Amino acid sequence: MNMEISRRNFLKGAGAGVALTTLGAFGFGEAEAAFVEGLRPYKLAGTTETRNTCPYCSVACGIIIYSKGDLAQGTAKAMHLEGDVDHPTNRGTLCPKGAALLDFIKADTRLMTPKVRRAGSDRFEEISWEEALDGIARHMKKDRDANFIERNKDGVPVNRWTTTGFLAASATTNETAFLTYKAVRSTGIVAFDNQARV
Ligand code: SF4
Repeated sequence: MNMEISRRNFLKGAGAGVALTTLGAFGFGEAEAAFVEGLRPYKLAGTTETRNTCPYCSVACGIIIYSKGDLAQGTAKAMHLEGDVDHPTNRGTLCPKGAALLDFIKADTRLMTPKVRRAGSDRFEEISWEEALDGIARHMKKDRDANFIERNKDGVPVNRWTTTGFLAASATTNETAFLTYKAVRSTGIVAFDNQARV
């Protein structure tokens, strides 16, 4: 009995082999070659991966930006972006806003340099990062020197600076947030917030 079944299976297998050979004779190999020819080249080949954080909300999802060009020379262009599967917050997922970040990166309206509206002016003008940071530091020092409150009316040390506020970014790592918090609070600034609540 077993011998008979084996013989039947053998004959079935032989039939399938003949059918495959016949498909090959009908041009299956050519179809396969045409299919391979039609494949697009892998679009992420030769790109540089850069890990970053989505800047939109306080969830702070991890993203990977793929760019082509020389990062060191500043000629690299972002050409693809996706969620970072190794990131503990989002595990590779992105909401629709995060998934559309490439449009945000390439937007014509994106600010690329600091701008300042000087006292009495009705327009913003572009300035360098050096000028912006020097100007911010100068304004902060002047205001703090004039308005810092070391003690309250009862003589108790309070070390408050209430005339300047600081808006930080929530889309950062815990470590960056910790350092920002320490730096800002060490100046005595009381009004301190980030865009997660805006
Ligand atoms: S991908 Fe969406 S949820 Fe994640 S940080 Fe960006 S805006 Fe927030």
